[in-house]
Amino acid sequence: MSRHLYDHPMLTGPHGNPNYGGINSDFNCVHCRAYVTANPLVCGVHNRNHCPFCLWSRHMDLYAAGDRLSACRGAMRPIGLTLKQSRKKYGANQGELMLIHGCSDCGAVSINRIAADDDNDAIYRLFEASFNLDAQARAWLDASPVKLLAPADAWLVERRLWGGRLPA
Ligand SMILES: [Zn+2]
Ligand SMILES: [Zn+2]
Repeated sequence: MSRHLYDHPMLTGPHGNPNYGGINSDFNCVHCRAYVTANPLVCGVHNRNHCPFCLWSRHMDLYAAGDRLSACRGAMRPIGLTLKQSRKKYGANQGELMLIHGCSDCGAVSINRIAADDDNDAIYRLFEASFNLDAQARAWLDASPVKLLAPADAWLVERRLWGGRLPA
């Protein structure tokens, strides 16, 4: 990675850690400022890229999850849930539940794995909020191949998040 990226103010860590914002390094949430650990033993995923509390992320990846090649670094807003489309081998509704993020700087849409320490209630609130998307997020989605889950998919979301039990 080139030196100039480290000079970006949003990449300057609290202790001047030059790897701040790099692969598998802890970070402070761009939205709620919470301290977020990227330790795979805690969050259960590699390439942790979003906050487990408010679910916001940053535009880090260019071609593939974890490549950290994007120069954008914009704040990515969680806008809804989708299913990762696998090869239809197991039929519809069998894909992994994923978060959809839209970049508030450049409008890029990406889908991201839910981490083990993500707040299930926050994910469900995001799901409900996505039924009434604002025009900006709707435009981001319309320009991407990602399909938003609908209210009719609530049973599926509940099952994925709580193993079939309804939220309290
Ligand atoms: Zn946050
Ligand atoms: Zn961006």
